[in-house]
Amino acid sequence: MPVTPDQQAEIDELRSQTKPTLRAVSPGMEKHLYVAHDVLDHGFVRVVDYMGDDEAICQAARVSYGKGTKSVQNDEGLIRYLMRHWHSTPFEMCEVKLHVKLPVFVARQWIRHRTANVNEYSARYSILDREFYIPRAEDLAAQSVINNQGRGETLSGDQAEQVLRYLKDDANRAYDHYEDMISEVDADGNAKQGLARELARMNLPANIYTQWYWKVDLHNLFHFLRLRADSHAQYEIRVYADAICEVVKDWVPAAYGAFEDYRLGGANLSGKAVECVRKMVAGEKVTQETSGMSKGEWREFMGVVEG
Ligand SMILES: Cc1cc2nc3c(=O)[nH]c(=O)nc-3n(C[C@H](O)[C@H](O)[C@H](O)COP(=O)(O)OP(=O)(O)OC[C@H]3O[C@@H](n4cnc5c(N)ncnc54)[C@H](O)[C@@H]3O)c2cc1C
Repeated sequence: MPVTPDQQAEIDELRSQTKPTLRAVSPGMEKHLYVAHDVLDHGFVRVVDYMGDDEAICQAARVSYGKGTKSVQNDEGLIRYLMRHWHSTPFEMCEVKLHVKLPVFVARQWIRHRTANVNEYSARYSILDREFYIPRAEDLAAQSVINNQGRGETLSGDQAEQVLRYLKDDANRAYDHYEDMISEVDADGNAKQGLARELARMNLPANIYTQWYWKVDLHNLFHFLRLRADSHAQYEIRVYADAICEVVKDWVPAAYGAFEDYRLGGANLSGKAVECVRKMVAGEKVTQETSGMSKGEWREFMGVVEG
């Protein structure tokens, strides 16, 4: 269940109340505020709070000059300039606080992004729900033969069915034992001491769901999204990044547009690669052998120039 009835009631109550404010408001973000966007089978991402908008980025960048000749056209141009020239601090003026429900193995990748503030559900204090990420059959892929960190072809019918059976059975068995260990009643209904939650959680698999609040500024969020909305990122974290991209697009349309163009859609070229491009434009034939690049670099370079 992505959101519990209690959480939904809280969301409905929060969305039913409005308060007058003098603060910057992003109309696009207001429609996302508190709403849970489903991700994977039981996960979600929802905006709990935010600060700033496209104008706040420009305001910070223009602090030395005052508002000057401000216009929407100028704002967008300025934001594109800032993104193009790697000016980071104006983007740090915007912040977002997300409530995320995600499998533990996804959380392990996510938490590597250190430039955020996190508060996680405590499995020492509370009992975890019986909720495990079970991939869809079409997402069960074989180990890639060309990329040790990737997936190859989708598993066929019988094999996929067996994998799904293992995942479900193992998760449920582990959870049954977890419940039994923390239970304060034995099989005969007699009182017993339950094992501490902080210990009982040890046997739970990495596909169990956890939840956290994650607060990050826009500069570091873009860094996260560039890495995790990328095709090289694992599918299970990429779908979260994709969901966040949809939110950021509505929150700060100009900044997201610049990010999409320069970072998600753009490419970094090495000195050797730039030299090759110059030669190609001049009509010269360039090969991997004459480029000075390794095979891997050349493959990636051709991926950029050939699309
Ligand atoms: C496709 C992919 C595969 C990966 N594979 C692996 C893997 O096999 N093993 C593995 O361990 N990790 C792996 N990672 C994680 C990766 O190495 C980074 O830890 C993760 O992406 C977080 O990036 P970051 O440190 O730039 O982000 P953040 O922690 O958010 O930091 C943002 C930036 O702040 C600066 N910064 C933050 N903290 C410090 C600090 N203490 N000192 C100096 N500078 C700092 C750095 O410039 C950093 O780039 C992988 C990531 C991706 C996207």
